[in-house]
Amino acid sequence: MSLSPADCPLCAGPGGETVWRDALCRVVWIDEPDYPGYCRVILNEHVREMTDLPEEERHRLMRVVFAVEAALRELMQPDKVNLASLGNQVPHLHWHVIPRYRADRHYPDPVWAPPRRPPRPMSVDAADLKQRLARAVAVLLAPPE
Ligand SMILES: [Zn+2]
Repeated sequence: MSLSPADCPLCAGPGGETVWRDALCRVVWIDEPDYPGYCRVILNEHVREMTDLPEEERHRLMRVVFAVEAALRELMQPDKVNLASLGNQVPHLHWHVIPRYRADRHYPDPVWAPPRRPPRPMSVDAADLKQRLARAVAVLLAPPE
């Protein structure tokens, strides 16, 4: 895996619609009709593995991942939240945070598996959900007063 930062889509662009960011990382909304609420937490720098990060930054990155998970649980009550860090195709640290439901297209498989069911977009107001998610994540990650 020799993708250089110059060829990296997560260095070239935000990788989705940014709903929160700080100096270390960003939370982006993935426009995926089968999976409303699908977010990625993407490190701002081109770093390959979690253990390439200083320990404090690892913890900080996971704190953001967990804030997104908590916000999605509160807003969407999914049957399960999938957290995944693969990076086989794009070796730039990013975490997938995916709300899952027993009736979704791939359940109980990962979303990258062949689908088990036809598309059945959920009746969710994505724009509203995105706004509420952005607010909830910002509250959870707000520095203590
Ligand atoms: Zn990159």
